[in-house]
Amino acid sequence: MTDQLKKFLFEDRSVRVQAVRLHETWLHAQEHHDYPPAIQRLLGELMAAAALLAANIKFEGSLVLQIQGTGPVALLVVECQSDLGMRATVKIREGQEVPPDGTMQSLLNTNNEGRFIVVLDPRRKVPGQQAYQGIVPLEGDTVAEALQHYMKASEQLDTRLWLQADGQHAAGLLIQRLPDHGGTAASESGANTLEHAIVMAETIKPDELLNSDIDTIIHRLYWEDTMIGFEPSQVRWHCPCTRERVGNMLRTLGEQEVNEILAEQGSVQITCDFCGKPYAFDPVDCSGLFTDSRPMPEQDPPTVH
Ligand SMILES: [Zn+2]
Repeated sequence: MTDQLKKFLFEDRSVRVQAVRLHETWLHAQEHHDYPPAIQRLLGELMAAAALLAANIKFEGSLVLQIQGTGPVALLVVECQSDLGMRATVKIREGQEVPPDGTMQSLLNTNNEGRFIVVLDPRRKVPGQQAYQGIVPLEGDTVAEALQHYMKASEQLDTRLWLQADGQHAAGLLIQRLPDHGGTAASESGANTLEHAIVMAETIKPDELLNSDIDTIIHRLYWEDTMIGFEPSQVRWHCPCTRERVGNMLRTLGEQEVNEILAEQGSVQITCDFCGKPYAFDPVDCSGLFTDSRPMPEQDPPTVH
């Protein structure tokens, strides 16, 4: 298992520590793209963050982290399922240069109009239920700071994050205060544990977080503490794109627009932004999309015997 996420609890169960380290998942995300180092850093960190947060969602479904920008970068998006299958992509504005020393603020928040967006989307919704979406202004110099700002603004559990990424690895550490169950004494003990956990985590160097395995990091930080460790979870690349979904997307584009593309190019060629998979629709495929107005099923219908 190269790509792991591990959870730990302090002995008093007041604070949770999670660490994630991605290699193959992260290489998959870059497979069809040639991201400059400044983008690698931001996207890798956003992937590590998404895995850390998705590991705690209480439903089957997905968590999406998005940074919408007004500068050279239009969008960074990472989608992580509750089983930690994930995909990610970046949209760079056409004709825009991404300077090697570009920062989150200079690349995405040029007019103070950058946004950090979190979407929680349960797979099975009760009728009428929508996905939850939280939006805050893009604040801070790093993905970790932007996310901490979001957590604070949305009054979530007290959370701190450390994130790092280069072309090979993306890694992250999360420390989170858990709700108290034992009155004032527990609350005081929890506050002390949180402070201790953060003070120790602050000593970690970027290279160390990026290049050490999870157990080494946890041991180095908390060797004096009794930590409860849980079985590691595997993180993997997973893009749920299908021909049916692309077909539904073409339907929403409308028959007229699709016919215009056909007249110009002979067929409609679409490449998945996430995994690079090509989809081609010839004129017969396209007319089929619009003669049958029902949405195409996600899977083949079951065979009748
Ligand atoms: Zn795909």
